[in-house]
Amino acid sequence: MVPTAVVLSPDSYDKVVSERLDTETTGSDDSESLRLEHHLTLPVSVKSEDTDIIVVKELVPNPCPICHHPLKFLRELIERFENEDTNQIRCPLGHRYSGIMKVYHLNIFQQNESDDVSDKVLECPTCSGNKIQYLGPKEMFCLDCDWDSGIVARYRV
Ligand SMILES: [Zn+2]
Ligand SMILES: [Zn+2]
Repeated sequence: MVPTAVVLSPDSYDKVVSERLDTETTGSDDSESLRLEHHLTLPVSVKSEDTDIIVVKELVPNPCPICHHPLKFLRELIERFENEDTNQIRCPLGHRYSGIMKVYHLNIFQQNESDDVSDKVLECPTCSGNKIQYLGPKEMFCLDCDWDSGIVARYRV
């Protein structure tokens, strides 16, 4: 699964902005939301209803049913899948097969924020990359591959 967007309520937005951005230098001309998007590497929007969610997408089937290779560059594949109207997925070896895109809304602030965060994951267990992106105290994903911390899909659209 690949996180693609964050939707926050105004209250949560203020909180996240103050928590996440207080260590960054000020004086930039960017708006807070642009800086937050840069920080999270995801588009952020603020709404007062149906909020505090992260939108996660995945392509199914994955891996490729022909060669059984897992899909790579999922972000790009999902973007292409959304822009084209063919329902075709292209695997790393070039097979094209028909599939679907599933969209999940995950509630990101359900856990107790005071949970111990001492055992921070800094290295991806799958690709050993160090680009771990935190969404919550214990919810994280890798920017280099499609590993995540077992983020539980609570709602399906
Ligand atoms: Zn294939
Ligand atoms: Zn990884």
